[in-house]
Amino acid sequence: MVDLDTPLKTLLGARAATLLADGLELSAVGDLLNHLPRRYHERGELTDLADLTLGETVTVQARVEKIERRPMRGSRRTMLLVTVTDGRLSLTLTFFNQTWRERDLRPGTTALFAGKVDEYRGRRQLVNPEVQLLDLEAGGDGDVGGEAFANALVPIYPAAAKVPSWTLAQCVRLALDSLEPVPDPLPEDLRQRHRLPPLAEAYRLVHQPDSRADVASGRKRLSWDEALVLQVALAQRRRQTESLATTPRMACPDGLLTAFDAALPFPLTRGQREVGAAIAADLARPVPMHRLLQGEVGSGKTVVALRAMLAVVDSGGQAVLLAPTETLAIQHSRSLRDMLGDLARGGELGGDDQATRLTLVTGSMGARARRETLAAIADGSAGLVVGTHALLHEDVVFADLGLIIVDEQHRFGVEQRDALRARGRRPPHLLVMTATPIPRTVAMTVFGDLEVSELTELPAGRAGVSTYVVPAAVRSWTDRMWGRIRDEVGTGRQAYVVCPRIGGAGADDDQVVGQDGEDGRPVRPAATVTEMLPLLVDGELAGLRVESLHGRLAPAQREAVMTSFADGKIDVLIATTVIEVGVNVPNATVMAVLDADRFGVSQLHQLRGRVGRGSAPGWCLLQTAVEPDAPAWQRLGAVAATSDGAELARLDLAQRREGDVLGAAQSGGRRSLRLLSLLRDEELIREARAEAVRLVDDDPGLDGHPTLRRLLNAVLDEESAAFLEKG
Ligand code: ADP
Ligand code: MG
Repeated sequence: MVDLDTPLKTLLGARAATLLADGLELSAVGDLLNHLPRRYHERGELTDLADLTLGETVTVQARVEKIERRPMRGSRRTMLLVTVTDGRLSLTLTFFNQTWRERDLRPGTTALFAGKVDEYRGRRQLVNPEVQLLDLEAGGDGDVGGEAFANALVPIYPAAAKVPSWTLAQCVRLALDSLEPVPDPLPEDLRQRHRLPPLAEAYRLVHQPDSRADVASGRKRLSWDEALVLQVALAQRRRQTESLATTPRMACPDGLLTAFDAALPFPLTRGQREVGAAIAADLARPVPMHRLLQGEVGSGKTVVALRAMLAVVDSGGQAVLLAPTETLAIQHSRSLRDMLGDLARGGELGGDDQATRLTLVTGSMGARARRETLAAIADGSAGLVVGTHALLHEDVVFADLGLIIVDEQHRFGVEQRDALRARGRRPPHLLVMTATPIPRTVAMTVFGDLEVSELTELPAGRAGVSTYVVPAAVRSWTDRMWGRIRDEVGTGRQAYVVCPRIGGAGADDDQVVGQDGEDGRPVRPAATVTEMLPLLVDGELAGLRVESLHGRLAPAQREAVMTSFADGKIDVLIATTVIEVGVNVPNATVMAVLDADRFGVSQLHQLRGRVGRGSAPGWCLLQTAVEPDAPAWQRLGAVAATSDGAELARLDLAQRREGDVLGAAQSGGRRSLRLLSLLRDEELIREARAEAVRLVDDDPGLDGHPTLRRLLNAVLDEESAAFLEKG
């Protein structure tokens, strides 16, 4: 008898175990049972041969059509050419020195063939494929492989070169046949509430199903394991955060915050007031705040953040605002300084009495300036600090860090948050801000340990943005696009032209990734900043003041360009996505995105948030060379049709792989979310969350659930190992 921890060597012998370990990294019985079929063939159903991709290792079910023996040139040996078919298309199998196969592969025989697809004289073929006969009518010949396919559905496993799918099926059969009763991580009452089979039964259902319903039921059960473990981990984190002690921070009645509010040139929106109150209440508690603030581009998150920072400074602490890039950090420090006026000029002539100092830390600052800045942070005279994440990895010492605000960083994982928290003398309060609407499932998983606030309304007086898709092939449309830019500039407004790539020599850091042709056709290289700049300066935008901005410029140069643009000294900025987040120039009213099909839905939504930030209406023109019936066009059409960020986020999630959504760290090396789909399993995740909260409330240490605790620890170990490896 074996259990889930039994080494495969014990079950299968050394040779087979080595194959599974080397090819698929499977070492214990549990690993093998968790290596799930990728899909299932109905017995007798032939694989569509049109789907084969060159270079891929495939398992196909096909019928032998004809078989031919040929002498090999310059050799006494022979080769066997077997033509197999799916009933429509055919594929050649080439066997060298395996004439004995003639006996098995008679025309009309159906079998499974596994191998790597390659090409010979323009025809797809498999060379020396592995073969598994499926005709059991002959009565079976005691072949263990045949038995593995006794069920109505034939499991097809993600296979390795030396381990064909049916070998895996045989190994799994051996494991299931000798498996002793396994302890179940899911509590019995939970299983009953949600009608889930026991663990061992679930393994049988997914590996040896008789129907699609079996598969669904087994997979659902295994998805529950994933979801519950994840949610229990998050519930425990929330509990643990609640048990930490930190310094409560409260604004004083005649302090900086009061002075700031009094000088604010606009009334706060209702949302800003409500979120502000929730944050103030959090900050006043003796446990660290742990909150996510989500709000559309332009919804006014910065003011909310700044007010929280001022409350902390009022109480004698320091607050730091972290941006994802240096350009944004520079932007932030500029706009905070603008908003604060004299209040940020502590220690300066003409500064307000109670003013504090705002410092910007960048990687490119000179040694002397850096030393002075770090000294001001260490002695506490700098109450407000702005920088990139590098700030926290370096030896920056804070006098009394009370609040960390992380801007535009929706891929900010649990581990990064932990690293930040270790920075203060006592754990600082934490506010994560994002403009990317987060689908609920992602919020419940990646951010499941945070409280979530939302800013849903835009400040009054925004005229909004009209978005149009511009077909590059239609000259009159493209002309009108450039015309619109010239018109806006003519009335004193400014414009952005966004390109997918930087171009020129060197690596394209800002390049938009993952944009293959929709149907595998190679795509035309996308427009680049360096090539558009001279073209536009001499052509469509002649006479206007045009500059470029991208990630390869030196930080000082980037800063200079941004300042000139903000000051209105540049009419048109030709840029990459470096302007995607945080850039705030209300006078910019039009944006043309070239080769817009290369961008994701959420990204386009973010980009267009750069215009229409003032009282004048904004224009966003999405130029594309794709045809109106292409999926990419539909995507652009969706962006043009709605400004509902949540709807676009759902669309975006549907089109990306989940690893991209979660980021590598959060997906825990992809292990912890193997079955669970953030797209399809919202209901399940929600239920698992409720169950997890109940479990952890009743039994925080899971003492009554040792099997669940063991699974949880294994997953957490794996995740922290993965995180440490990434450094
Ligand atoms: P985001 O949420 O994208 O970070 P910002 O905080 O940059 O948005 O705000 C966008 C613009 O709106 C800024 O120019 C800011 O000064 C302005 N703003 C913020 N709150 C209000 C308000 N309540 N009324 C009017 N304008 C506001
Ligand atoms: Mg912002």
